[in-house]
Order: sequence, then structure tokens, then C-alpha cells
Amino acid sequence: MSVLVVGSTALDSIKTPRRAHPRLLGGSASHAAVAASFFAPVKLVGIVGGDFPKRYIELFRRHGIDLDGLQIAAGRTFHWSGEYEVNMNHRRTLATELGVFERFLPVLPPTHRRTPYVLLANIAPALQHHVLDQMRRPRFVIADTMDLWLNTALEELLRLLARVDALVLNDSEARQLAGEDNLINAARRLHRLGPRYVIVKKGEHGSILSSRQGLFLCPAYPLAKVADPTGAGDSFVGGLVGYLASRGGAVDRHLRQAMLYGSVVASFGCEGFGLTRTTRLRRADLDERLAKLRQLAAC
Ligand code: AMP
Repeated sequence: MSVLVVGSTALDSIKTPRRAHPRLLGGSASHAAVAASFFAPVKLVGIVGGDFPKRYIELFRRHGIDLDGLQIAAGRTFHWSGEYEVNMNHRRTLATELGVFERFLPVLPPTHRRTPYVLLANIAPALQHHVLDQMRRPRFVIADTMDLWLNTALEELLRLLARVDALVLNDSEARQLAGEDNLINAARRLHRLGPRYVIVKKGEHGSILSSRQGLFLCPAYPLAKVADPTGAGDSFVGGLVGYLASRGGAVDRHLRQAMLYGSVVASFGCEGFGLTRTTRLRRADLDERLAKLRQLAAC
């Protein structure tokens, strides 16, 4: 079954203490769509400007990603730049130039409205609502978010939580949104706002799923060298929903394995700048690393 991914489609300029790469393919939807494409057919909904390189369009096509919902507008593509410290867990946003993103209204082609799996990747909650308003009875909706929206669009975000099956957010966002320091209690509070599944990401320390089945601790694949962690969270949730769509059936049956696959795709993503490593992967690479991850966590 297929996955609809809506979010940002960007050009990212990324600096680390070792290197700088300007105008790489980035954005929450780009990372998530490519990650999901290893498992299931993907429909991408986003907006780019006239300056968006053709090679990136071709890259999406090579991954079999349906681009009928990608708007190409007059103006410049959303450009984000960020700089990492020696400790890669610390990142500073240097610039956010919205460009055509400023007037983005995600209008879904009629063929997209019945897509069974929906990933609302990180964008303004108002736009995430707009996508859901157009969907016809999706089977599973998962939303990602970021601290910006907790600080600037809290009311819309809270309304969104009542409309989604699953919420993914990082640990500091979970604490802030729930107003609770303990992550387990924070997840419980977030359930009360709507989502049946709450997934809290903890970067290199993996993630925690909270659901009616209890808790699941998903490890991150340990990496000795991280080139660029940009988009790791987006790749995680993209891989996760792609795997769920590939299995169909009850979410509870497949969600743990889906998180492990998400973790594996994200780990590969961190080994290269932007999407450079991920786009060279084959499904067999993912399966091989998944087996290693399972071994590492077994006792
Ligand atoms: P992450 O590393 O998971 O925080 O995701 C990084 C990606 O988010 C980059 O590729 C950026 O292009 C994208 N991004 C940064 N700021 C925003 C924003 N305000 N809205 C949507 N996407 C953003």
C-alpha cells in the first residue's frame, strides 16, 4: 500500500567542523519520502522554486516517488542552513529563507486523497490540517513536528493531535508539550491529547514507543563516525511508515519492526551529507544492518 508524504522540500546548506556542503537536497518531506521509498510506493506533496535542480527531481523519480503533488512555483526553493558543533548533537540554524514555501498550500491531486498511509512530516500544523481535510478515510496518520510549532502554533498543533493515530517528536519537545519532565509520564499525557501511539526520539540513544501494548525501546544503530545527522528524524519516520505500508494489516503487529527499520535508514543517512548516502542504498543493505541491530540488542 502507498504512503503520502507532505512536508518541506528544501535546499540545505550544511556545515560541520570538517566540511561544508551548500544547497544539498533536504527538507523533512525529501528525507522521509526517500526513506519510505525502500519499502512502499510514495507520493510526495511539497513545493519547490524554479531554482530546484533537475537532478533532484530525477533522484526522486529514480526512487519511484510520485511527483504529481510537487508544485513547481516561480521563485526560490526553501533554503535552510545549519552548522554543527564538534559534538554533533548541537546544531545552530544559520538561516531559514522561506522562498516559495511562504505561500505553500498543499492541494492534493484527486488520486492522492485515498492514500491509506499518511505522513505529515514537519511543517506548520495549519498545513498538516489542510492535508487531512482533503484525505478520504486514511488507515493510518502519523505526524512529526518541531519545537518551532510548539512555540508559535501550539493551538493548531493541539487540535492536530486529536486527528492523528501517531505522534513522533524528540524528547525535549515531548517534555515541553506535555509539561512533564519524566518521559514516560509525558507520553501518557500526550496520549490523552489524541494519538494512540506516541514515539519519542532520543537521537543517538534511540526511541521509545508508548501505546496500549505498553512500551517498546528501539535502539539507534551505533556509529563510530557521523558525517551529518540532518534529517535523521525524518528518515526514521519515513522508513517507519514505509515499512508499515508494505505490511498493511494491524499497526500493532508491525510497529516495532517498523521502528527498527526507521532506525536503520536513519543511521545510514547520518553516514553521508544530506541524502548522499541514503540514495545509494539498496533494500538488502537495510536488511543486513537490521539483522546486526537485532543482534546488538539481543541477550
Ligand atoms: P532534522 O534534522 O530532523 O531537524 O530535519 C532537518 C530538515 O528540516 C532539513 O532538511 C531542513 O530543510 C528542514 N527544516 C528546517 N527548518 C524547517 C521548518 N521551519 N519547516 C520545515 N522544515 C524545516
